[in-house]
Amino acid sequence: MKSDVSSTVSPSTSSINGSIPTEPAIRHNWTHNEIKAFFTMPFNDLLFTAQQIHRLYFDPNEVQVSTLLSIKTGACPEDCKYCPQSTRYDTGLEVEQLMEVEKVLAEARAAKATGSTRFCMGAAWRSPKDRDMPVVLAMVNGVKELGLETCMTLGMLKPHQAIALSEAGLDYYNHNLDTSPEYYGDIITTRTYQDRLDTLHHVREAGINVCSGGIVGMGESLDDRVGLLQQLANMPEHPQSVPINRLVRVEGTPLADQNDFDSFDFIRTIAVARILMPQSYVRLSAGRETMNEEMHALVYFAGANSIFYGEKLLTTPNPAANKDLELFNRLGIRAEGGRIEQTPPSLQSSRAERIFYNAAAN
Ligand code: SF4
Repeated sequence: MKSDVSSTVSPSTSSINGSIPTEPAIRHNWTHNEIKAFFTMPFNDLLFTAQQIHRLYFDPNEVQVSTLLSIKTGACPEDCKYCPQSTRYDTGLEVEQLMEVEKVLAEARAAKATGSTRFCMGAAWRSPKDRDMPVVLAMVNGVKELGLETCMTLGMLKPHQAIALSEAGLDYYNHNLDTSPEYYGDIITTRTYQDRLDTLHHVREAGINVCSGGIVGMGESLDDRVGLLQQLANMPEHPQSVPINRLVRVEGTPLADQNDFDSFDFIRTIAVARILMPQSYVRLSAGRETMNEEMHALVYFAGANSIFYGEKLLTTPNPAANKDLELFNRLGIRAEGGRIEQTPPSLQSSRAERIFYNAAAN
């Protein structure tokens, strides 16, 4: 699909660039028009601005690497229109009950062995039941003892559940806003936008780092992408991690027939997230399978500095870990934490070996 952004040579470009050399103020009062002006900047100006800001807070040649495990799969009562785990859609997904703690820890050990520094555990729940909490807390404890950072996504949380997770050692809680408040009702009807903001509030209050972002390519407008980033950037604290997902169109879900989402619009979304939330990790999440290596490189240049590593993202495919490492090596990117064994950039791989992330092959 063609981009719905038309660039204008904006007078704000030079003033933005002019303000880069000093550290930009961390703002929480972005207006819709200010954010939209970034989206409509000429592409090169936008990427240059994002890269300059990125370098003020992060090593531009380092990417944080996490592993994601589905600890309870499918049969979710919610109606998120993009999600194969909703019980409302026939996607052929095999339902799996909550995993045993030992099995989760075995996966965490394997993730550590392949170099991940953070282990994320996701359960397809509307919200966790209190009777499930002891098992979930044991998982957090166990993963933490392995020396990995811990992250969970379990649906909506009540304050006491957020506190319990914090006390067990949870470092991050993921709960996405998905899209703008205006478009939200087109995508989910079983929980409100405010429900999501409330969960993020409880997580923040409990002292857990917030991981929150959204999904693009769901048929939303440019104004909706602006609205999503405005919500995230104007939180009392920026989420420490901001996952930007490109819709994975899963057969059987109501969004299966969405048009392709324009690659440049995706890269623009990453760049604007980087500019608005300079100290946050911007995570390239679902949809990487549909991005070629050149697009990955551009997205890293736009300021994305975190990825999920491994062949599956909850229930949808993800590039194989060795493909990511090969690209890291070719681009001179290091995995944060230094746990992953990397070879120096190599020119030896053949052209054929280099063509990967080819969604058409899947
Ligand atoms: S996105 Fe989460 S809450 Fe929504 S249907 Fe899927 S598993 Fe359930």
